[in-house]
Amino acid sequence: MTDRNQELFDRAKALIPGGVNSPVRAFRAVGGTPRFVQRAQGAYFWDANGQKYIDYIGSWGPMILGHGHPAVLEAVQKAVLEGFSYGAPTEREVELAEEIIKLVPSIDMVRLVSSGTEAGMSTIRLARGATGRKKIIKFEGCYHGHADALLVKAGSGLATFGNPTSAGVPPEVVQHTIVLEYNNIEQLEAAFVEHGPDVACLIIEPIAGNMNFVRASVPFMKRCRELCTQHGALLAFDEVMTGFRVALGGAQSVYAQLIPGFEPDMTVMGKVIGGGMPLAAFGAKRAVMEQLAPLGGVYQAGTLSGNPVATACGLATLKEIQKPGFYEALSATTQSLVSGLTSAAAAEGVTLCGDSQGGMFGFFLFDELPQNYAKVMTTDGPTFNTLFHGLLDRGVYIAPALYEAGFVSAAHTAQDIADTVSAAQDVFKLLGK
Ligand code: PLP
Repeated sequence: MTDRNQELFDRAKALIPGGVNSPVRAFRAVGGTPRFVQRAQGAYFWDANGQKYIDYIGSWGPMILGHGHPAVLEAVQKAVLEGFSYGAPTEREVELAEEIIKLVPSIDMVRLVSSGTEAGMSTIRLARGATGRKKIIKFEGCYHGHADALLVKAGSGLATFGNPTSAGVPPEVVQHTIVLEYNNIEQLEAAFVEHGPDVACLIIEPIAGNMNFVRASVPFMKRCRELCTQHGALLAFDEVMTGFRVALGGAQSVYAQLIPGFEPDMTVMGKVIGGGMPLAAFGAKRAVMEQLAPLGGVYQAGTLSGNPVATACGLATLKEIQKPGFYEALSATTQSLVSGLTSAAAAEGVTLCGDSQGGMFGFFLFDELPQNYAKVMTTDGPTFNTLFHGLLDRGVYIAPALYEAGFVSAAHTAQDIADTVSAAQDVFKLLGK
C-alpha cells in the first residue's frame, strides 16, 4: 500500500520549510512521518491513509468539545453565510467580550486578536506603555508566542538578561527581557531587588504547558503577586493554553481558590475561546486597557481581529462549556487517563508520573513531578520516542515532543480512555523489558 502521509510529506517538503506550517508538527523530535489529517470527528482524526487515531492534541488545545460539535458547526455554518469578514464591528464581538468578562473577573475590558502570539506581544507592549517601564520578566520553559522579545532563554548566572533562542533576533531586542527559572523564589526575589523599578510586567504560564505540564507552586505564585504589587509591575497571566481549559475561569480561578483574593493584572487568552478558529484576546482592568488605541497611545490593530466566523465559533464553544457539570466530567475523564497510564506503567515496571487539571494533562518518565524546564529536559528522549511511536502505531496520537502538554476533550469516552491505557500498557511491556 502506498503511504499517502509520506507522499504528502515529500510534496510538502519541496514547498514548505520542513513540510509544515508550524515546527513541532514535523516530528523532528520523535522521527518518522507526520500524519496528514484528512478529517476529524469527536475525539478522533483520520490520517491520509484512512488510519484512525484517538486525538490527545485537539489542535494543541482549542478543541475542548472535540471535533465537529453539532452546536458549534451550526453556529459556524450560519455565520459563514452572513459573510467572512467585514473590517467593521459586529454584535458578536460585543457578545464575546461580555462572555469573557463575565467568566474572568480580573478582566474589565478585552481586545480580540487572531493568535496567541499577537495577544502576548500586545500585552507586553501595553504593559510597557501603561507603566512607562522597559523590562519584562519571563520564565524558562514558558512559551508566549513567537514575538521577538519573548524568544529568549536564560543567560549564564543569576537573573541575567537572556539570549535569543532564534536566529534573526538581535541581542538588543531581548536586552530588556529577564529570564528566570520557574518556581525559583530566590531568583525571583533577586531579580526584583536588582530591577524592581524598571519592571513593566512579569509574564507567566500559571500552569506551564510548554514544558509538558508544570504547575507554578502556590508559594511561588504568591510571591510573584506580592513582588509585582510591591514594585508596581503588572502580573500578566498567559492563559492561551489554560484559559477555559483547566477550569471555566482559567488557571487564575484555580489559584484564587488557593491564595485568597488572588488575581493577575493582565490575561492573555487564545485556543479555547476560538473553538478551533483563529481567535485570541487579551484583557486587563479598565485603566490599563484604556491605554490602547484608539483611546490611548499604545498602538494595536488587526485586519481580521474579531472575525465574525471565529467569534461565532468561540461563542458557541463558550456556551457549551458553561453547561452544568462540564468541567467535573472533563476533569474526571482526564484524571482517569492519567491514573490509568501511571498504573499501567507501574504494572510493567516503568517509572511514570503524571498530573492534570481540567482537560489538560502531562506525564513524565520520572518518579516525581518536575518543577522546572531544566528537569523536564532531562527526560530520556529515546524512551519517550519509543512510547510516542508505540502509541501512534496503536492509534493513539499524543504530542510528538516530550515538552508538550496533552489535551482531553468532552468527546473522549471511558472506552477511549480504556483503549488508550491498554495501548500504553502494551508499549510499557516493551519498555519494561
Ligand atoms: N502562549 C501559550 C501559553 C501558548 O501555548 C501558545 C501556543 O501554543 C501561545 C502563547 C501562542 O499562541 P499562537 O500559537 O496562537 O500564536
